[in-house]
Amino acid sequence: DIPVICIDGPTASGKGTLAAAVAARLGYHVLDSGALYRVVGLAAERAGLATDEAALADPAHAERVGALAAQLPVRFADGRIWLGDDDVTDAVRSEAAGMAASRVSALPAVRAGLLALQRGFRRLPGLVADGRDMGTVIFPDAPLKVFLTASAATRAQRRYEQLISRGETASIDSLLADLEARDARDRTRAVAPLEPAQDAQLLDNSAQTIDASVATVLAWWQR
Ligand code: C5P
Repeated sequence: DIPVICIDGPTASGKGTLAAAVAARLGYHVLDSGALYRVVGLAAERAGLATDEAALADPAHAERVGALAAQLPVRFADGRIWLGDDDVTDAVRSEAAGMAASRVSALPAVRAGLLALQRGFRRLPGLVADGRDMGTVIFPDAPLKVFLTASAATRAQRRYEQLISRGETASIDSLLADLEARDARDRTRAVAPLEPAQDAQLLDNSAQTIDASVATVLAWWQR
């Protein structure tokens, strides 16, 4: 059995940072599943497939986006993300890419299309997977599932600092509105809605340093 630790939670709760730190401590692989949905959004737009809600409501259009997800030429290497021959690391991190990811991720065909790809990340010596449904759908047999939360204000503030440090402009109010819209969509969608797995450990890191969260997860893992 190849070990896997799932870290799920809402937008900008710090899942990526926590997953990377825990994986580094254990020498495990990392799956950033949100990046896959971001790449699908980007790939769709580059293929001339619109990702607004009106377009995605057409079943034939949704199938085309799903087919794209099922054959996604995505590669993670040395901290970069590749779509075919293009380095899309920066492009997928934008707020617009996050919103497009949120819309395409509500499509059952897209979620099904990415299933095998995600499970393929489970390789020795182990995996830390972050997302929304790692513990509920992708790795239901995972021995440790963490559901990470933080207040919306804390999450908007972190996202703001992240964008500013990258030289992007941002407003806290519009980031807060964006993340609440994404959370609402993630929680209410019909497939794989965002919710803690029944056997998940809940961790609220609003008032916790990254090191403290890492220590908590490692303590759960060693138990
Ligand atoms: O985590 P990140 O913000 O990169 O994810 C982008 C979007 O992809 C999320 O807003 C969510 O709608 C979707 N997502 C998902 N399932 C996952 C990971 C991400 O639906 N496992």
